[in-house]
Amino acid sequence: MSSSAVPAASPRVSPLDAVSLRADFPILSEQVNGHRLVYLDSAATSQKPTAVLDAERDFLTHANSAVHRGAHTLAAEATDLFEDARAAVARFVGAHPEQLVWTSGATAGLNLVAYAIGNATLGRGAPASAPYALAPGDEIVTTAIEHHANLIPWQELAARTGAVLRHIPARADGTLDLDAAASIIGERTRIVAFTHVSNVLGIVNPVAEIVALAQAVGATTVLDACQSAPHLPLDLPSLDVDLAVFSGHKMLGPYAIGGLYGRADVLDALPPFLTGGSMITTVTLDHAEYLPAPQKFEAGTQAVGPAIGLAAAVRYLQDVGPANIHAHEVALAERMGAGLREIPGVRLLGDAPGADRVGLWSFDVAGVHAHDAGQFLDAQGIAVRVGHHCAAPLHRQFGMTASVRASTALYNTEDDVDLFLDAVRGIRGFFG
Ligand code: PLP
Repeated sequence: MSSSAVPAASPRVSPLDAVSLRADFPILSEQVNGHRLVYLDSAATSQKPTAVLDAERDFLTHANSAVHRGAHTLAAEATDLFEDARAAVARFVGAHPEQLVWTSGATAGLNLVAYAIGNATLGRGAPASAPYALAPGDEIVTTAIEHHANLIPWQELAARTGAVLRHIPARADGTLDLDAAASIIGERTRIVAFTHVSNVLGIVNPVAEIVALAQAVGATTVLDACQSAPHLPLDLPSLDVDLAVFSGHKMLGPYAIGGLYGRADVLDALPPFLTGGSMITTVTLDHAEYLPAPQKFEAGTQAVGPAIGLAAAVRYLQDVGPANIHAHEVALAERMGAGLREIPGVRLLGDAPGADRVGLWSFDVAGVHAHDAGQFLDAQGIAVRVGHHCAAPLHRQFGMTASVRASTALYNTEDDVDLFLDAVRGIRGFFG
């Protein structure tokens, strides 16, 4: 512990007992380069508690079977566990089970939506009057701060349909320019896709204001909830978005599982993207009829073990309490931000006064490349992300190609933050 290096005014973290929670995460007792691991890369992927590891292992050991098809006992048990998992994950985001489509992650969910809208535009799998058909000149609006996963699928959709892609700009402090949004979102806007929390800035965006602008022109809203689902209470129906995506591996769950949430009528009207087994009622050699949502969007053999693992993850998050987690991480972010601001040469990205945040800061150290800074931290057992974090346009706006990102989760402690700050204080001296 290096608390002497922390400014006296630094906030203390909330009552959440991160020190005890850490015992649930076996990887956190690893040594890295001779130091205890200080894991500050949860925005890339979170660590997994034993409950998640056990849930997947138990399923594979005792109940492994494909779901929704076999007549045997294991198949029935696996199907029950799989659908229970759907209900648990849906409940975690305030939704009904039929509103949750399993995907392999947020990227897959966003591509599913973009390609399904493309299919609607072609008149495939949807009535000719499909509500999501795009006409040339219709507009798709995203923002300047998106992860590539919420940008490139829309670029591709625009290219395929003749729609026009527009962007809500970010101000210099990283907040979205809502005045500009009000003039960009207009009569031709059909889709507004935006992130709840930026994976570079950590700022919580004003969902209600953007949804109101979109609803005023009848546009469909798509929320990227990747960086909010693990870090704050999330009730998607009350946010009133039409569709939303998240990734299991960022919220203590396994890889290759995630969710697409949709309003029931929106999922009903949207045609499928992938087609094949498990999503049909009848098939002839020329034609197929589809099951209702969510199965309509779940072609092929599903990731049953990962779904069960993700259910264990959300039960864990729910037990700790999303509001407690948020308060804990906000306090860590304040401590980290206060420390970083005092280090000469450090420039924080998205340091907007008064902005709602999660526990994440990206920054630049003058004269030191982000990759060098990352290696210097790694040598001390501190894991951070370096690069453009799949948000190259935003980094370009800040006049840089790469930054260092330190991101927290419920298992991080004040001690983690202080060790990190001590190490950052040494960067310029080492490379200078
Ligand atoms: N959106 C945001 C904001 C992200 O941070 C990420 C991952 O870093 C993604 C989307 C893509 O998530 P995945 O790679 O799990 O599909």
